[in-house]
Amino acid sequence: MTRFSYTALPVHVVFGTGTVGQVRAEVERLGRSRVLLLARPGRADAVEEALGPLVAGRFAGAAMHTPVDVTERALAVLRKVDADCVVAVGGGSATGLAKALAVRTGVDQVILPTTYAGSEVTSVLGETRDGVKTTRSSPDILPETVVYDVDLSRDLPRPIAVTSAVNALAHAVEALYSPDANPIVDGMALDAIGRLARGLRDDDREELLHGAWLAGMCLGAVGMGLHHKLCHTLGGSFDLPHAPTHTVVLPHAMAYNATHAPDAMRRVAGVLGAADAPAAVHDLVVTAGGPTSLRELGLAEADLDRAASLATERPYPNPAPLTRDGIRDLLQHAWAGDRPATD
Ligand code: NAD
Repeated sequence: MTRFSYTALPVHVVFGTGTVGQVRAEVERLGRSRVLLLARPGRADAVEEALGPLVAGRFAGAAMHTPVDVTERALAVLRKVDADCVVAVGGGSATGLAKALAVRTGVDQVILPTTYAGSEVTSVLGETRDGVKTTRSSPDILPETVVYDVDLSRDLPRPIAVTSAVNALAHAVEALYSPDANPIVDGMALDAIGRLARGLRDDDREELLHGAWLAGMCLGAVGMGLHHKLCHTLGGSFDLPHAPTHTVVLPHAMAYNATHAPDAMRRVAGVLGAADAPAAVHDLVVTAGGPTSLRELGLAEADLDRAASLATERPYPNPAPLTRDGIRDLLQHAWAGDRPATD
């Protein structure tokens, strides 16, 4: 008999088209009435209109990797307007700021995601102070409510949509070979992979958003491996952009793990209708017009040695044993944009 454990995270989710119209009712359902709206100017007009008199203030400065100085500025606005709820409209950066404010003050969070990062359904927060990123996890970080409105994600430019969707795909793929893997998460992961692949091929924003939600739940439920750690290193130490880095690295991290996670690879390949999962993910990225090399993201070849050393400094669970030479080799292929070799 199969034995497993699974913790469901309590997030209330509304999914659909035109769901922005429900945001005021969602804030009121939480018993809140004074909203600090976290959004870039012009990106949240429909949300602001729907919230009406509940908007007590606005803050537009959310940035990648949640810099603490930005959080402190937002905190001052939150206190000044006496907000009891934050409503974030945007990608992982806006969500990160909402989480940072919630964990400091206890305000409730309603998130309207416009990218596929998945942070809105996890209890993890990564923050940057003086260029150093630290990550923590707490039930207080998990947003109370997520309103997915497909219409909000339609404006997302295609190149950002592609890399963000592959970022989501990475959560689902690594969930399948996580040490915490279980049948509940596997089901969400395989559904996510199918939807994200269809969404990428057809630029179907509903499939992408639905797949991203499922992939985010995988990320929130089980530990991630080599791919996420490597992207964390490349983003943190070499200032590479988050979602494009995930897009380049994923096929190579999968190829590295392939012989040690054959069942996961067989299942991914099955959903993608291909013989070889890493090559199929590479081909999906190429067809969608996404980046395939670290070189085009601006990483210098001379940095690969340091990146390999940093990425293997501390051990963590991963299907294939982590060796410095092996990671250096992976990085060389990712830097050059090679199609992963098929066994
Ligand atoms: P992001 O929020 O910075 O958005 C990426 C780009 O998309 C930005 O340039 C943004 O301006 C643009 N954009 C977003 N919505 C748009 C719209 N509707 N129209 C036009 N442009 C739009 O980045 P992201 O990739 O969504 O998220 C990455 C961040 O999230 C990182 O800081 C990462 O560490 C964090 N993250 C955290 C978790 C977690 O569980 N804690 C999970 C995933 C990502």
